[in-house]
Amino acid sequence: MRSVSAARSRHGATARVEAQHPHAPPRRKVPDEPADEITPPAEDYLKAVYEIGRAGNAVATTDLAHHLGLAAGSVSGMARRLADAGLVTHEPYYGVRLTLAGRRAALRTLRRHRVIEAYLVHALGYPWDEVHPEAERLEHSASDKLVDRMAAAIGEPTTDPHGAPIPTRDGVVDDAPCPSLASVDAGTAVTVLRVSDEDPELLRHLADMGLVPGASVTVRERAPFAGPLVIDVGRAREHIGLPLAEQVLVAAPDDHLASRARRTK
Ligand SMILES: [Zn+2]
Repeated sequence: MRSVSAARSRHGATARVEAQHPHAPPRRKVPDEPADEITPPAEDYLKAVYEIGRAGNAVATTDLAHHLGLAAGSVSGMARRLADAGLVTHEPYYGVRLTLAGRRAALRTLRRHRVIEAYLVHALGYPWDEVHPEAERLEHSASDKLVDRMAAAIGEPTTDPHGAPIPTRDGVVDDAPCPSLASVDAGTAVTVLRVSDEDPELLRHLADMGLVPGASVTVRERAPFAGPLVIDVGRAREHIGLPLAEQVLVAAPDDHLASRARRTK
């Protein structure tokens, strides 16, 4: 069985550090940087368990396989290795759940991802539809120190360019589930909180309609039989299908202000 610990020195030397036995107790942590590095596939896995099981549910390995684009067998194999490393619990027929250490690791990767996206937009002028693939790569290689300095350089943002909350370096995040635009009643005004960040074409389309975090939207009409919504975004009237509206997470304007105030405390 392969250990999830990468045999890589933190000082950049090529010398291999002693590989840890999978059943050995976790190494003692040095402040700031964990002694155990988690491999990029393991980081992606933990992130996926966090994202799918955000409400605290166990995550089915079939859902993980779908999300990660992997075969069910390799998803179960990784679950066993991560369980040995104390990062998840895995119950056959039930699913995978993060341990406290696993949740901390997932939030650390998410912080790196989201700070990198924010830095690319705010410091380097990247458009919001081009940052996700860059962050997917860099989240595994950027050090926490670099990420902290990127965050400081752009004024410690609390959300990424797509509106996702950025965990603090202590692993605190305000990640309460919020409703999508698809669930909003006619006659109701809401504020866009967050949009799905993975599809560049979708992001460009949303930007063309003005559906960006912070935008005020009023649902005017809901067509029957799951038909499109008629919405007002700023001064423009738009039609939006339900599948697209489901990708746009919203809050009542008061909630939005309250949650921002909570996060900036
Ligand atoms: Zn992203």
